[in-house]
Amino acid sequence: MISKTILVTGGAGYIGSHACKALKNAGFTPVTYDNCSTGWEQAVKFGPFARGDLLDRSRLDAVFTQYKPAAVMHFAALSQVGESMQDPGRYWRENVTGALNLVEAAVAANCLDVVFSSTCATYGDQDNVVLDENSPQRPINAYGASKRAIEDILHDFTAAHGLRHVIFRYFNVAGADPEAEIGEFHQPETHLIPLMLDAIAGKRDGLTIFGTDYPTPDGTCVRDYVHVSDLVDAHVLGLKWLQDGKPNRVFNLGTGDGFSVRQVIEHSHAVTNRAVPHVTGPRRPGDCAKLVSGSNRAITELGWAPQRSTLESMIRDAWRWHQNTPNHYEK
Ligand code: UDP
Repeated sequence: MISKTILVTGGAGYIGSHACKALKNAGFTPVTYDNCSTGWEQAVKFGPFARGDLLDRSRLDAVFTQYKPAAVMHFAALSQVGESMQDPGRYWRENVTGALNLVEAAVAANCLDVVFSSTCATYGDQDNVVLDENSPQRPINAYGASKRAIEDILHDFTAAHGLRHVIFRYFNVAGADPEAEIGEFHQPETHLIPLMLDAIAGKRDGLTIFGTDYPTPDGTCVRDYVHVSDLVDAHVLGLKWLQDGKPNRVFNLGTGDGFSVRQVIEHSHAVTNRAVPHVTGPRRPGDCAKLVSGSNRAITELGWAPQRSTLESMIRDAWRWHQNTPNHYEK
């Protein structure tokens, strides 16, 4: 019988913790591997916690030996576009070397199924191109470049060592657990929706819109937002896909609908009934004008059925968690 234990790197983080909850609900035991550099021990609620760093190969080996996972879901990574432009070395070291250590340890432990959290940032800025899984990958920031490199590592390890993988290229993940047990909290926060909610709640002065001169209808960046609980449901399906012996596959995870920063602000006002204090500022280096998925492969092949990925639901769920857990997490 296949072990029900899944190693979840980054299980203390925003997406990883939601994945642990979805795995537990699907009958798996998620073991979180996390150094808590950006994640929170309080978010590890759905299975064992093995504290560790991806750069620590001997700790990884010990965790594989102890838990004997059937598969790995790899979320742990630095994920801020702006920071990656200022300190690319950190992104290459922690994201790429970390992933390399992880897959080497997985192969050594004969744990060959990997579900990997990649990103639409691997596509880069491609005007008027429909972004599907066959689109060229031309990242314009070090974050996207580091994720593309990890995809390459997975391909090479698949050819050489029989690794099997599902790669998910996420668009913009938003929202929170509909039961408000866990949510999105980064320190420092850089993401649009939590920043907006903080501004609405009076926890920060206001939001700065990064750039109003993009070639988009209202001049602000356009993104495709997907609800975190829908996103992690796709991961459980991806895991089952591998366990059913289906082929290595890449799936975009987005809705295909783009919303500008100004539209997100308007929706937030409508959902929370509070205006979002904001000013306009210059572009943030590394930002693409528009990132919207042009593929429904996850729906047609994987059977993914997003339930909550309207902007209203995402903001409503994020806002509920924000209000229920006003202090969020603490170290
Ligand atoms: N954004 C913004 N002000 C902020 C944070 C983000 O205008 O304080 C914009 C950002 O330029 C991008 C969008 O909001 O167009 C989403 O940014 P986020 O950092 O949430 O996700 P990313 O697209 O970088 O993955």
